This record gives sequence, C-alpha cells and structure tokens, in this order.
Amino acid sequence: PPVYIQRYSKVLEMLGKETPRKVVDFGCAECKLLQLIAREEYVEELCGVDINSTLLEMSTRKIEPLIASYLNPRPQPLTISLFQGSVLQSDKRFENFDAVTCVELVEHLLPNDLNAFIVNIFNFIQPKLVIISTPNADFNVLFNESKAFRHPDHKFEWSQLQFQKWCLEICDMYNYSVRFDGVGTAPNGSKNLGFCSQFGIFSKNADNNSRKTLSGSTNSTVYNLIAKSVH
Ligand code: SAM
Repeated sequence: PPVYIQRYSKVLEMLGKETPRKVVDFGCAECKLLQLIAREEYVEELCGVDINSTLLEMSTRKIEPLIASYLNPRPQPLTISLFQGSVLQSDKRFENFDAVTCVELVEHLLPNDLNAFIVNIFNFIQPKLVIISTPNADFNVLFNESKAFRHPDHKFEWSQLQFQKWCLEICDMYNYSVRFDGVGTAPNGSKNLGFCSQFGIFSKNADNNSRKTLSGSTNSTVYNLIAKSVH
C-alpha cells in the first residue's frame, strides 16, 4: 500500500494497544485518518483539528455515520467533532484527552513555533499516548539528487538523528518515554537510511505529575467547531 496508508495503519496499530477513549488528530486535513479511527469501538470521543477550515468544510460528510451503522450499533456512542484551530494554541476542551496523533504535521510548523506545539501537547493536554510522524530526511537520497524538500510547504525535514534528539528532549522535559518506529522501508543495502516516514510514539510516565499551565491563549475555548456528529 502507499506510504500514507501505511502511516494510518501504524497509528491504528499503536492506538489499538492503548484503546484510548478520547482521541484528537491534529492536522487532520481531509479527515482520512479520522474515518479509520472512527471504526474502532474503544473510541468514544474523536476530534479532528486543522488550521485550514476549507479542508474541514469539504470533509464534514466523512464524519457522518454510514447508513449501515444503524444496523450495527456501537457498544458505546461515539461523538466526532471537527475544529478549525492551531495546534500551537491550547483549548480547554482537550485537556483530558487520552491520545494525540500528529501525522506529517510538525514539518509544516515554523521552527520557532515548535515550542508552543510541545507545550500544548506535553504540558497542557498531557495525554497517555502521543504519536508523531514526520518525513525522514535521510531517506531523501532515494528520491532525488537535489535534496529539495518533499513538499513546498515543509519548513524543515529532519534526519533520524535530529528527530530522535528532539523527541528525547521532550521526554526529559515533560517526563515521557519515546519509542521510534517508521513506515516505508528502504531497499536492501540502504537499511541505514531508516524509514520513509519516521514515528515517535510517546507514553506518559507513570510518575508524571507535572502541573499543567494553559498556554497559547488567554481564552479557554479557542478552536471553532465546524461540524459534530454522534454515532
Ligand atoms: N495528517 C494528515 C494526513 O496524514 O493525511 C495531513 C497532513 S498535511 C501534510 C498537514 C496538515 O497540517 C494540513 O492539513 C495543514 O492545514 C495542517 N496544519 C498546518 N499547520 C497547522 C497548525 N498550526 N495547526 C493545525 N493544523 C495545521
């Protein structure tokens, strides 16, 4: 399957191990991952947040229940909501979410904004599970000679070393542990290049009692609700 499908499968595999009740996908774009997570019976509250309201408005039908789902009701109801908002700002409604996913999002943020991203997720939301994926720059030699970024909106692309250093610093600062994984394998003889997309899978440490500080905004509900549906 194409790499983006492999990314979603990896996220579903990781979520399936933790079975979080409340999940938020930042940078949800066309809500493709949300549609897949919505099929998981352990989820009771699912939110997608993206800064681009046009993408969300085009996707509202995707969060509606399928006709067939009335024949097969879920064990617990599921609420799906789409919000226009920035991951750099904290919104009170997300405070007690169990899992955060950010698939190919961080590389779209300005380096100076990464701290606000970290504070929102690891200090404010403080979920048990955080899944972050980003392109692996080491892998780019397999694509082109020019070393251009894979997408014009990418603000950076990190090598495996750069990404892992960033993740480990977050863990030190906010008392999390991280495991590295990836999808999209290199051909034989190039395994040292790692995966096409690299993943950091963060778990909150059991002794993590860090105090939360609301960041990003003085207003407590800053994201705009675009659509909501109950399954
Ligand atoms: N996660 C999706 C996927 O894997 O299919 C799409 C990733 S797309 C490459 C990056 C998305 O991040 C875009 O939809 C963009 O609008 C969104 N984005 C960029 N900056 C953002 C921010 N500060 N807060 C929330 N979303 C943001």
